[in-house]
Amino acid sequence: MPDPKQAALKTQAQPPEETTLVQIKPVAKSAGGVPAIMSAVKSAWSEMGPVRGLRTLLKLNQQQGYDCPGCAWPEPDQHRSHAEFCENGAKHVADEATTKRVMQEFFKEWSVADLSLKSDYWMGQQGRITHPMILRTGATHYEAISWDNAFELIARELNSLNSPDEAIFYTSGRTSNEAAFLYQLFVRQFGTNNLPDCSNMCHESSGWALTETIGAGKGTVRLEDFELAQAIFVIGQNPGTNHPRMLSVLEKAKKNGCRLVHINPLPEVGMSVFKHPQDVLGWMGAGTQLADLFLQVRINGDVALLKGIIKEVLAAEERRPGTVLDHEFIQSHTRGFEEFVAALDAVRWEDIIEQSGVPKSKIEEAARIFIESEQTIFCWAMGLTQHKNAVANIQEIVNLMLLRGQVGKPGSGLCPVRGHSNVQGDRTMGITERPASVFLDKLGAEFGFEPPRQSGLDTVHAIEAMHDGKSKVFFGLGGNFLSATPDTEFTAAALQRCRLTVHVSTKLNRAHLITGEQAMILPCLGRTEVDQQATGAQFITTENSMAVVQASRGFLPPASPHLLSEPSIVARLARATLGQRTTVDWEAVIADYDRIRDHITRVIPGFEDYNQRVRRPGGFYLPSYPRERIFKTPSGRAEFTIHDLPRHDLQPGQFMMMTMRSHDQFNTSIYGLDDRYRGIHNGRRVVLLNKEDMVSAGLNDGDSVDLVSHFEGEARAARHFTVVPYSIPRQCAATYFPEANVLVPLRSVAEKSNTPASKSVVISIKRSINGGKEGR
Ligand code: SF4
Repeated sequence: MPDPKQAALKTQAQPPEETTLVQIKPVAKSAGGVPAIMSAVKSAWSEMGPVRGLRTLLKLNQQQGYDCPGCAWPEPDQHRSHAEFCENGAKHVADEATTKRVMQEFFKEWSVADLSLKSDYWMGQQGRITHPMILRTGATHYEAISWDNAFELIARELNSLNSPDEAIFYTSGRTSNEAAFLYQLFVRQFGTNNLPDCSNMCHESSGWALTETIGAGKGTVRLEDFELAQAIFVIGQNPGTNHPRMLSVLEKAKKNGCRLVHINPLPEVGMSVFKHPQDVLGWMGAGTQLADLFLQVRINGDVALLKGIIKEVLAAEERRPGTVLDHEFIQSHTRGFEEFVAALDAVRWEDIIEQSGVPKSKIEEAARIFIESEQTIFCWAMGLTQHKNAVANIQEIVNLMLLRGQVGKPGSGLCPVRGHSNVQGDRTMGITERPASVFLDKLGAEFGFEPPRQSGLDTVHAIEAMHDGKSKVFFGLGGNFLSATPDTEFTAAALQRCRLTVHVSTKLNRAHLITGEQAMILPCLGRTEVDQQATGAQFITTENSMAVVQASRGFLPPASPHLLSEPSIVARLARATLGQRTTVDWEAVIADYDRIRDHITRVIPGFEDYNQRVRRPGGFYLPSYPRERIFKTPSGRAEFTIHDLPRHDLQPGQFMMMTMRSHDQFNTSIYGLDDRYRGIHNGRRVVLLNKEDMVSAGLNDGDSVDLVSHFEGEARAARHFTVVPYSIPRQCAATYFPEANVLVPLRSVAEKSNTPASKSVVISIKRSINGGKEGR
């Protein structure tokens, strides 16, 4: 019998170092176009074959088809094209609908420790998991287990806890509304609000910022607003890679005369030139120039930059009183204007310019575009949400927009762009560690039980609780918890202290390899697959970034007859765990998902006639009060807020590092080793640095370096990264997620939202001791 401690020691939490040589090629001249089509076709063909590939792609994002499991960018309400997807959506679907399989024999051949020496890319390449698997105490290999035995074992572990609060129930953003609603119901009937989710690590800061200032934690724009907008600001976001179909919406806006401003530490090709993949004539031309103005802000220089724009707006109002600010809106709908203006007076231009890294002339130009536009949209993503002052970043945007009444009128508004297809819907369904009491009241009344009222654990606190031995069972509904979370080694140790870790998954990932004493993989259906239940084939529903709720119907046969749908896994686990204690007829709701939606109708506002409305082509919009200029804040008004300029006192030789994603990945799923939009090929362990900083540090292009992060006297190291000179502000560095997660301290989080500050990591860089790969 192998020594389990030895086996655990050999299991690697971090992706292995690459043996390939990174190659630097010219960055792509434009986003989209023929290379995007070729890349999408190549992925679809190689994973699914031509016939299955074509059939699958033609149903993607169609009204009678299935919703893309990738990002949460919306489809047009009507008039969808036959190819309503992007390169990354195609890759994501190919990844799920692959014909490759990970069968029981695979797990007999590969020990957990050996698997952990393989890269995340390799793991994703192995295919779909076909059976429920268990890693028993002390075992080195997973083995098959029946569904009944799996649920019985999990139920036994859950019921033997001293308190329901010793269990963690995580959710990833792919989970459907139906699965999420049942899941939170089960968890609350079990007796806890420990429902952390991936939103804790991305747009939690947006939710906090918007709820405090406009009374609702979601965006206020619809797709149709982009057609009316006269100016669109895209800040802390790289849509070309992370929300690619947004580019076609921006292109259309440009053709309508809209001006685009991109604010980001890195220039991104997607925001400079775009060739619509469906515009055959356009392939030959130069493409559409998107951004009219690019402000290369320092990492976390956004508050300073936004304050600069606001100062300019106020100065213009002073020069031309009554022509710049929307006084009527400010007076009737906002609170705190005078205090806000007074506080801004004290902010000095020298500090704004130093901290933003952007010259005053460029800030003035951005302000001019803002002032000249009667309808303005602000879009943002994780470049703003993953900092210590993330909530302030977003609230500074709100301040700016309130000045000109740019919330609650057509063609304008606030647009946090969500990264995973149903991350917003899961929240709407009650996946949160801090449920509102009105929601719990309705849930309790609908199902005749008293839900727990005490707040549960978010992702960061859940990791701490597992690490401290306070949480003993981890259940993950989707996702790759280990790779998605910060502080990889700490998180790995936390998971290894659990008695049981369980993951509902479609494919193998690193979270399956860093386990509690026992571990399970429960394989589930993907979005592309038929979900057959007792009354027939079911559809599920999702909510996109613009609060449209729509149906998604799979059509492919399941990857294995042994798969269950996510709602079915939740229901069977609930029955096994709760037994006579439950008040829910779990079998009935699984037989017909309309019954789940009927419950949702009665519990969650905005879902009236859910079953009828979601069957209409394109689904329906959830209500948005800020769109009507109804601000449900305690004062009943939109709030101006005051924020200090953040200070970063980097020591000589230190850099502010942010993590980012490549064009060949979706969240933690790695589809390849190239990032053609940035010209980086054949590797991911790279650190992007300013050339002048490289000279000062005595570093050369291609050097192998170790990165060390510094936080409250602690150091964390990531070895053997290749130096790549790049257009990035001085004293800034960029690395790929999840390889650099090991450097992100768990306790370095955003104020209020507790989101890991993965985009403000202070690091130093030194040459690797044993050299590295030579030449490129
Ligand atoms: S833009 Fe997002 S939702 Fe649309 S196809 Fe691409 S990855 Fe999928």
